[in-house]
Amino acid sequence: MMNVPLTVGSMLERAEKFFPKKEVISRTLSGVHRFTYKEIGSRTRKLAAALERLGVGRGDKVGTVAWNHHRHLECYFAAPGMGAVLHTINIRLSAEHIAYIINHSEDKVLLIDEDLVPLIERVQDQLKTVSAYIIMTDSDVLPSTTLDPVFSYEKLISESDGKFEFIKDLDENEPAGMCYTSATTGNPKGVVYSHRGLVLHSFALGLADTAAISEYDVCMPVVPMFHANAWGLPFAATWFGSTQVLPGPQFTPKLLAELISSEKVTLTAGVPTIWLGLLNELENGSYDTSSLRAILCGGSAAPRGIIKAFETKFGIPFLHAYGMTETTPIATISRLKSYQNDLDDEDMLDVRSKQGLLVPGLEMKVIGANGEVAWDGSEMGELLLRGPWIADEYYMDERSSDAFRDGWLYTGDVATVDEEGVVKLVDRTKDLIKSGGEWISSVDLENALMAHEGIFEASVIAVPHSQWQERPLACVVLKPAFQGKVSKDDLLEFLAPQFAKWWLPDDIVFMEEIPKTSVGKFLKRALREQLKDHLVNN
Ligand code: ADP
Repeated sequence: MMNVPLTVGSMLERAEKFFPKKEVISRTLSGVHRFTYKEIGSRTRKLAAALERLGVGRGDKVGTVAWNHHRHLECYFAAPGMGAVLHTINIRLSAEHIAYIINHSEDKVLLIDEDLVPLIERVQDQLKTVSAYIIMTDSDVLPSTTLDPVFSYEKLISESDGKFEFIKDLDENEPAGMCYTSATTGNPKGVVYSHRGLVLHSFALGLADTAAISEYDVCMPVVPMFHANAWGLPFAATWFGSTQVLPGPQFTPKLLAELISSEKVTLTAGVPTIWLGLLNELENGSYDTSSLRAILCGGSAAPRGIIKAFETKFGIPFLHAYGMTETTPIATISRLKSYQNDLDDEDMLDVRSKQGLLVPGLEMKVIGANGEVAWDGSEMGELLLRGPWIADEYYMDERSSDAFRDGWLYTGDVATVDEEGVVKLVDRTKDLIKSGGEWISSVDLENALMAHEGIFEASVIAVPHSQWQERPLACVVLKPAFQGKVSKDDLLEFLAPQFAKWWLPDDIVFMEEIPKTSVGKFLKRALREQLKDHLVNN
């Protein structure tokens, strides 16, 4: 067979050639804009030419500080298309970590959204390698800024002719992108994506048994483009010629609901907290969501209650998927097998709320205390992954040897595997609750709590205990209509029939809001810190 390199630039070329009329709908600070792939292609080539004029060459890192919108999409293809490396910077990291990752990756140029300029101004004195700042604004006038030298994105691209040719003599194993993932302690760790990895991952997203992304889709990634490449959706959707809806800065559940109905979105993707918000909006407003064929949900466990609510109340199918920054990210996805379609509703929900089957192309092992676990749905072990879109190291980081060993990625996630090969994540190794020498899954307790009609959010953590080592403590946020109407005893009574007695939380703390990580997951570290003496004092 021909040894033709798999490259990111060729994905956009396909959209330009075969889907020039299809659209990218992009929301920015000034409103909603529509561009065809023909226009996106031409603008991307102009951007690549402009970056070249600014001195960006092969292998150089191009950092983006941006929401989900058309200019960010153009960066997704311009940098890899010219042989440079797209570094999507997580804007929700601390200033210290933002400065660290820009220096560590040695970004040469930064492309920054107008409203995010202050983030970079705050750290500019610490930046060692950035030689140009490009501001992505709709306005003809640049905002006043201390960044220097500073350029206007639109002005830069207006000075090019759109004829830039994507680099052809590229080795598919060369880096195309990178993204840093937060570490439990210390600085974020960098993951570098090769052209080959990104293209093969896009193939995987198109398979009928995974996300089945196709030209027929209208894809709206809510998961940020600064986090694990918005789960690879922008690459796959462009390649397949799907319509894309990019919801832009500071979106709300209302805005998402409006976009779904006005743009007839068929597939959207994000973390469970986004869907909790949307569910609340749909329950209280009136929106046409009939176009949605699936909500792709991952990043943390999709609570069974949300899956059920979306499917039974609104007829919107939920696709639960699992992955991590290190896995580009899709690793497993939950779908029923053909012969499981006659299960009763609750059994189907059991299967669908698990993290699912390994996607084709990857290999897995689950290693417990005595080697590989039995596929019995109960023996737990750490999930190990390998495959062409799994990272094999952290970028210039001595912590690599902790996670990458013997050709496998040690995910730090604890899982069981059932007789069908379906993976269920029990917890992260660091979040499991060890009570009297036995493990309690915080995830199972959270899912059960979130199935209660009065609960908006729930997070269960381990707190130190003199006798049992650790005990579970539940933190819950009630829905406004249930404030003051649901007590701790009500919730314990609700949980009791579902768990062994020793699994039940020792206490339930009612909160206004659960602290979240940079990508909207529950920040258990903060909860543990805040509540570490809770049981002692109680
Ligand atoms: P961060 O560590 O910053 O959250 P990632 O987004 O890479 O970065 O997180 C990956 C982790 O998220 C996984 O290791 C796993 O613990 C968790 N995760 C991802 N998807 C799921 C899921 N569907 N169910 C449960 N946990 C998930």
